[in-house]
Amino acid sequence: MRARVHVELHDNTHTMLTYVRHRGAWQMRLHHMFVAAPDEILAALSAFVKTGDPQASATLDAFIERNKIFIRRVPPSELRRRLRIMTEGEHHDLKEIFEDLNRRYFRNRINATITYGPAPRVRGPRRSIKMGSYSADSKVIRIHPALDQPRVPRYFVEWIVFHEMLHHIYKAKRRPDGRRCVHTPEFLAHERRFYAFERAQRWEEQNLDLLLRS
Ligand SMILES: [Zn+2]
Repeated sequence: MRARVHVELHDNTHTMLTYVRHRGAWQMRLHHMFVAAPDEILAALSAFVKTGDPQASATLDAFIERNKIFIRRVPPSELRRRLRIMTEGEHHDLKEIFEDLNRRYFRNRINATITYGPAPRVRGPRRSIKMGSYSADSKVIRIHPALDQPRVPRYFVEWIVFHEMLHHIYKAKRRPDGRRCVHTPEFLAHERRFYAFERAQRWEEQNLDLLLRS
């Protein structure tokens, strides 16, 4: 038996397809990438909606993956709004550190958001730890929560934050061999202006275990 289907197209960035059955008809909300979908995709769509067929689901996932260039990029402000921002640790207040550095070194020009990031899940014993990261898409600096310990000195946290703030200023460059270089010579020279640069590096060498174990 044929069923009525109402289709509504949208430009969402996360959920590409939803459906409900309502008064004997299907109401589907689809991303506009489906407008140009070939028949086999429409067949998978129908199978998925009717029976939740896992094969059809995989086919749809693959189609969405191939067409993700049609998914609108979310502006940084919106990405930031979706984040849970946590600046206040038990020992180190990232907001305060960021604002202090911004004033002292950057004439308040760094327009980025800072937060303790969720600790990345790593299996087995760790050999290294990524203490900070910067996302150019969202303009968010993430700091590893392992740094929020009383034994981690403030100048060390400051150094990690300072380093990530520099990533906000210096864009990655392509080297002649084609590889991306994020720590350009200019970046590294600028980093040396940090007041406790050598002390922070020394502390890291001597205390890496403390960070890895946390
Ligand atoms: Zn870096």
